[in-house]
Amino acid sequence: MSAPSIKPASSGTLDLQNVPVTELKGVGPKLAEKLAGIHIHNVLDLLFHLPFRYQDRTRITPIGSLNHGMEAVIEGDILGSAVVFGRRRSLLVKVQDGTGITSLRFYHFSAAQKNNLQDGARIRCFGEGRWGKSGVELYHPEYEIIAHQDKAMADRLTPIYPATEGLHQARLRTMTEQALAMLAKSRSLPDLLPSSLSQQLKFISLEDALGYLHRPPVDASLNEFEVGTHPAQARLAFEELLANYLCLRRLREAADKHAAPSLPEGKPGKGELTKHTLDALPFTLTNAQQRVSKEIARDMAKPTPMLRLVQGDVGSGKTLVAVLAALQAIEHGYQAAIMAPTEILAEQHYLNLEQLLQPLGLDVAFLSGKIKGKQRNIVMEAMQSGQAQLIVGTHALFQDEVAFSKLGLIVVDEQHRFGVHQRLALREKGSSPSEGSKGSTYPHQLIMTATPIPRTLTMSAYADLDCSIIDELPPGRTPVNTILSSDTRRGEIIERIQKACADGKQAYWVCTLIEESETLQLQAAEATYTEMQLLLKGIGIGLIHGRLKPREKADIMHAFKQGELQLLIATTVIEVGVDVPNASLMVIENPERLGLAQLHQLRGRVGRGRTESHCVLLYKAPLSDVAKERLSIMRQSNDGFFIAEKDLEIRGPGEVLGTRQTGLMEFKLADLMRDAHLQPKIKLWAEKIRAENPELIEPLIKRWLAGSEQYGHV
Ligand code: ADP
Ligand code: MG
Repeated sequence: MSAPSIKPASSGTLDLQNVPVTELKGVGPKLAEKLAGIHIHNVLDLLFHLPFRYQDRTRITPIGSLNHGMEAVIEGDILGSAVVFGRRRSLLVKVQDGTGITSLRFYHFSAAQKNNLQDGARIRCFGEGRWGKSGVELYHPEYEIIAHQDKAMADRLTPIYPATEGLHQARLRTMTEQALAMLAKSRSLPDLLPSSLSQQLKFISLEDALGYLHRPPVDASLNEFEVGTHPAQARLAFEELLANYLCLRRLREAADKHAAPSLPEGKPGKGELTKHTLDALPFTLTNAQQRVSKEIARDMAKPTPMLRLVQGDVGSGKTLVAVLAALQAIEHGYQAAIMAPTEILAEQHYLNLEQLLQPLGLDVAFLSGKIKGKQRNIVMEAMQSGQAQLIVGTHALFQDEVAFSKLGLIVVDEQHRFGVHQRLALREKGSSPSEGSKGSTYPHQLIMTATPIPRTLTMSAYADLDCSIIDELPPGRTPVNTILSSDTRRGEIIERIQKACADGKQAYWVCTLIEESETLQLQAAEATYTEMQLLLKGIGIGLIHGRLKPREKADIMHAFKQGELQLLIATTVIEVGVDVPNASLMVIENPERLGLAQLHQLRGRVGRGRTESHCVLLYKAPLSDVAKERLSIMRQSNDGFFIAEKDLEIRGPGEVLGTRQTGLMEFKLADLMRDAHLQPKIKLWAEKIRAENPELIEPLIKRWLAGSEQYGHV
């Protein structure tokens, strides 16, 4: 019924995806390298690199009304300039405009710059007013000496782009300027959405949306931009999410064309291995574990590869579900592999599983980057010969030189650390040429995540997967008692830790950044570590953060687990899966900077043992109302799904924590959480396009996902 409004750019016309950034004026190989560092390779990438905020430089502000914290353009005559020697040497330039006098202050300046700022010259500056010695001053403003009084002002808002070291805003502006001109001239970004869609959703064209966001008019709503609900943003996010959804669906279709070993559950009822394993456990499966296990077993019995995601809150017992799946493969003479995202987690799984399964006569192997030399050869040999039945490890499992004998199941634990492309690479690893008419044979795949996401998002984030949810915790858990506390009570909290550790308990102290950052006022893990060492004498204190080598991290975690350390100062690296049952107290500093999903994951590190556990959210006062409301949800509930839904609900202006903080997948410009309201429409239209305009799928995927590894596999 509905045809695309314009035909997709055929290979004959200029395709901005094929124009490297080096084609732009002023972009040499060095700059191109910097741009590549932020994933900008071609002109289209550059056009998709959107500003994250804007400045209004369209009006001149009288110096007399300049205020602290105000971003403004001023224009005036230079009264005089001098190098002054305060605590730091600086160049101070006085400027007047008839309404007042202000000073420009430069801590870094060249001789040429100093000469340029002559008395009497007319200068136009842009900067942020700050209280200084001489009243409100401008520190390191952008400026230009102007010859004519009536030099034109900017007539649009000025974009501020995400940048990187050595890549300046001015450069990004001239580059995007050229890219926009190129786009206007080539008209090479045809609308790929069916016109019926654009009409119904009242979408402007892609070209207009990009033009608008790169150079908005003065009257554009900055508030809408900030929250991400501006129609131009929605237009772009919609198309990107749509392309992503279509890509995942296509991946799934491709996977369904392949064969997999059919591994039905042992008859009658459960197989021997499964039965013995369950008998050996001191508890019975929860209803949720049973239900999900059944769903998995049914998938594995089919002759097509299982692609199933298990979402289950921290502590819901996902490992056991994975083990049961592994046993099902092993009973049929296949191998199973369990991959964890970190050395610490992999080793923890290995130790637990070996303890559980070795008594049953199973051969459990472990492979990580840490296993080297002779030991590595032994493990690899066991994997290749098929002697190793269950193999636990890190990414190391899927390096080129590693081979399996007969891999029937791959389990990926804590999936959000792995991208789609890694899932695909994994699958290739266990593939073998098929005997029948189907494509090659793939192992079954089970993906486990402890990041519960709202149901509305599951659909699109994991459109290539079937989903199971373990929505029940094993009985007997006491929920973690969560307390909100202002950092003015930091001293009391530290005393509490002292007491707890003296009683033989263990505690985590989580800091959200590793280095001191003036502007964000985040407490640094390193500073806290030093502080605690001074304050808490006689307590073993460890520090763990992302910059440590995996080896060092594992050693520290080990010492904590063994009880050699009582207090662990950590950045968010401890977030995933680590199990230290004796740890019953956690303090999280600046929790207001984190998404609720992440807070929930962190909190899940405590409350794993018998003692009552506490989590103190030590926020930086004062807290906004919305932030308070968000954090209080952590107090209300220990249910990850509930928390995820609420997190989505109460995102308001200024509280837009992007996907980055939730650990979910990342897009060029869409944001799964921010753009959640688009989801139902995306699914609807994607299915419509699949049915009615399948010719649009390829160009859409190419536009948004070309270059990404997952595209290469479709
Ligand atoms: P997660 O879902 O976070 O990976 P785990 O699989 O690590 O959770 O399980 C957490 C703890 O709960 C483990 O110590 C495990 O032995 C225990 N457990 C799992 N299933 C049950 C159950 N049905 N009853 C009681 N304890 C269970
Ligand atoms: Mg786990």
